[in-house]
Amino acid sequence: MRCRKCPQRAVLGMPRHNTAYCGPCLTEFVRTQVQKAIKAQTMFSPEDRILVAVSGGKDSLTLWEILLKLGYRTDALYVDLGIAGYSERSHEKVERFARDVAKACGSKLIIHTVEEDAGAGIKELANLIKRPTCSACGTIKRYQFNRVAWENKYDVMATGHNLDDEAARLLGNVLNWQEEYLQKQSPTLPASVEGFSKKVKPLYRMTEREVAAYAVVNRIDYLVEECPMSKGAKMLVYKDVLNRLEAESPGTKHRFYWGFLEKQKKAAESTPSMTDSDQATLLPCETCGQPTTAGTCTFCRMMARAKTATH
Ligand code: SF4
Ligand SMILES: [Zn+2]
Ligand SMILES: [Zn+2]
Repeated sequence: MRCRKCPQRAVLGMPRHNTAYCGPCLTEFVRTQVQKAIKAQTMFSPEDRILVAVSGGKDSLTLWEILLKLGYRTDALYVDLGIAGYSERSHEKVERFARDVAKACGSKLIIHTVEEDAGAGIKELANLIKRPTCSACGTIKRYQFNRVAWENKYDVMATGHNLDDEAARLLGNVLNWQEEYLQKQSPTLPASVEGFSKKVKPLYRMTEREVAAYAVVNRIDYLVEECPMSKGAKMLVYKDVLNRLEAESPGTKHRFYWGFLEKQKKAAESTPSMTDSDQATLLPCETCGQPTTAGTCTFCRMMARAKTATH
């Protein structure tokens, strides 16, 4: 198989675009797609300071690398969850990338360690408060990411969600008719209120396979293993179903997610944006000061329950 842009041998066939690229042309294609995503969804400008959430996996490290290569002012946050074995390995990959690649671009890595902060790793913490590990993990990661971004005055927080992630999430939301989640599912979520940072997903135009190929071509040393807690997750089932549909009919994921974005755009144009009265429902948390709809935010309530459980 030959590259469609030059005489080199192709490293990746892309049936959804009816094309194939060699390493350098793939790199150019992916970076162009990310740049298009940033523009199309008004994610950020070259003056903005960006905080990328990194896990040591291919998507987040690739995103960090691409933003640096495109010249954006980007730093990263790694949340060490304290999951025996997995966290040490992912931590090491992130540190290595920060030292070997990011540092030369003036980019820094911020680390938050759950065990240091909460006195226990995520699994123990979730057990203490009798909640599923992934749900406690989601609360902690969302909270810490927002806190670090806000305290350090980053303009925007970026995550490595790709097209497969977004299409699978969309399928889950549609199957369960989770309308309020559907409303909030977007590659760009504005900083709606004081204390909440803007959130973006610059890889939403790239499939998992394309991101993985980019990472290999660009020698990004990432952790291949997934978090052990993800076993049996519904998202993996949705991804599998979409992959089967994609194999039968290339471009399915793309059409599914793009169609949704189009409909969402039309709906937004015909409905008024958030009003002051909507914003007034969010107040500073009584314990930590971050915005919340309740008196005390979910994170602080969770921590308080964990404390009581240990006594
Ligand atoms: S699989 Fe669950 S525990 Fe692991 S990183 Fe994801 S949300 Fe956290
Ligand atoms: Zn080429
Ligand atoms: Zn709080």
